[in-house]
Amino acid sequence: MTDRPAGRPPGEAAAPSAEPGGERIDAVVVGAGFAGLYALHRLRTDGFSVRLFEASDAIGGVWNHNRYPGARCDIESMDYSYGFSEEIQQEWNWSERYASQPEILRYLTFVADRLGLWDGITFGTRVAGADFDEDTARWTVRTEGGATVHARYLIMATGVLSTARTPDFPGRERFGGEAYHTGRWPRSEIDFTGKRVGVIGTGSSGVQLIPIVARQAAELTVFQRTPNFTMPAQNAPLAPDFVREWKATYAERRALARRSGFGHSQPTNPARVMAVPDRERTAEFERRWESGGLYMLRAFSDILKDEEGNELCAEFVRGKIAEIVRDPKTAEALTPRGFPFGTKRLCSGTGYYETYNRGNVRLVDVRRTPITEITETGLRTGEQEHPLDVLIYATGFDAMTGSFLGVDIRGSGGRPLREKWASGPLTYLGLTTAGFPNLFLLTAPGSPSVLSNMVISAEQHVNWVADCLDHLRRHGLRSIEARAQAELHWVAHVNEKADETLYPRADSWYVGANVPGKPRVFMPYVGGVGVYAQKCDEVAATGYEGFELR
Ligand code: NAP
Repeated sequence: MTDRPAGRPPGEAAAPSAEPGGERIDAVVVGAGFAGLYALHRLRTDGFSVRLFEASDAIGGVWNHNRYPGARCDIESMDYSYGFSEEIQQEWNWSERYASQPEILRYLTFVADRLGLWDGITFGTRVAGADFDEDTARWTVRTEGGATVHARYLIMATGVLSTARTPDFPGRERFGGEAYHTGRWPRSEIDFTGKRVGVIGTGSSGVQLIPIVARQAAELTVFQRTPNFTMPAQNAPLAPDFVREWKATYAERRALARRSGFGHSQPTNPARVMAVPDRERTAEFERRWESGGLYMLRAFSDILKDEEGNELCAEFVRGKIAEIVRDPKTAEALTPRGFPFGTKRLCSGTGYYETYNRGNVRLVDVRRTPITEITETGLRTGEQEHPLDVLIYATGFDAMTGSFLGVDIRGSGGRPLREKWASGPLTYLGLTTAGFPNLFLLTAPGSPSVLSNMVISAEQHVNWVADCLDHLRRHGLRSIEARAQAELHWVAHVNEKADETLYPRADSWYVGANVPGKPRVFMPYVGGVGVYAQKCDEVAATGYEGFELR
């Protein structure tokens, strides 16, 4: 086992590692989040030479960068953790139902220590580009520091919610106060005491941050463009008995999660939303509200497909907002309308709606009165100036494609991925893309990805890739590449599945609607984690149908 870099507390900075020079290895993995760390471990265990490049100076991926107050996972910690090692899942103890960001970093540090991953990671090294050489069937991977590595396989574990996005408001750079983005939060603690704070954005990050900042700040102004549905998280410490029981049945629970729709071990109610009597339906909504988190999405099997039933669910939640928020005007402004329940990523928060009952919190509807500019001393909506000491951008990410296209990847014939995906991402199985042999895109568009428990999905992708590389090795093959026809069919299938649901009706980041000019394509695969994994396994079992192996 290798020691983690000396003197470094969990999740804190490691010294930048020496840049490599011209090495020839089997695989380069990019990104040290959940997916990249497991890829490093699995491929090394299988006897491949691997180097993992991480742009920052610490592991964790999104959990390294999203350090904003209140950052916490909204999937239960017992589920949102690696399942590949019985020892690890038995040894580690989560303290809360929903793990906080610092606890997730401690967990990943524990895993990296336990598996001796540190010496496989080159920190402080951003991959700038990669070129595929058809003669050698290898990738030449270039770092921003100018070093190169030649690798047979390139595995992008760069995450799909990792390219933070700040809207291009006029005057942004003029702001004289403190400015932060939730997705690039600094390590130092920020004190909001006595300050006038503005938050732009009310997605999952804003919803978690707003109640905490409200308790500290002198005044908090929330600039909201689209109200979203927020469930009460109902977070709580985990009882020892609960943990003991869960750990005793971990194997079955993981198996259930891998076969499920969303990658969790708690099943979806199989009943159809309109097939039950009104009283029963409302009682089920009430139970789901009380149990908290994202469970409302699984209240009925077709809640994301049946328009009428979905609207009843939306009305139920609207009623809760009206009950909680005292000022009717504010309640109405917070009430989501115009898109089906759950089709913009559902939020989970603690005391979110209650926060608007505080005297120091104000909500500004920037759909009605858009943000016109950022000034030296605040923010202007229409004619009104809002003076601010601190401005927090909780404005999200260039989701699903941003981190893949952030690296200048060039496949056969020097064709850039950016050019190939100019009208939207094209993948086969959400893992590979035609014209780019030996390139694997983990949890990419066309896979369940963000519609699932990401840890389960990352593990499934890594296992599939590792098995594939082993197949190539055993058969003396140098490359694997998706066939264009198979890719076309897959993309059509992904769209077909999405069109069976209400998802495409919302202007969400699932369709790229949050980034001006981004092609509107529904990106994740909604067919379910279990169904998807089975398809991937069938492709492998049939000798990699849809791929060309050379
Ligand atoms: P987000 O869901 O994309 O929310 C961004 C917010 O900023 C939205 O309210 C958006 O409004 C607003 N916004 C964007 N551009 C704007 C503009 N030009 N003017 C005014 N408002 C603007 O981003 P996020 O909250 O960071 O969350 C992203 C995803 O990360 C989540 O959906 C979730 O999958 C994941 N996440 C998970 C957790 C968790 O596990 N608890 C926590 C944080 C994040 P519009 O809706 O109108 O675009």
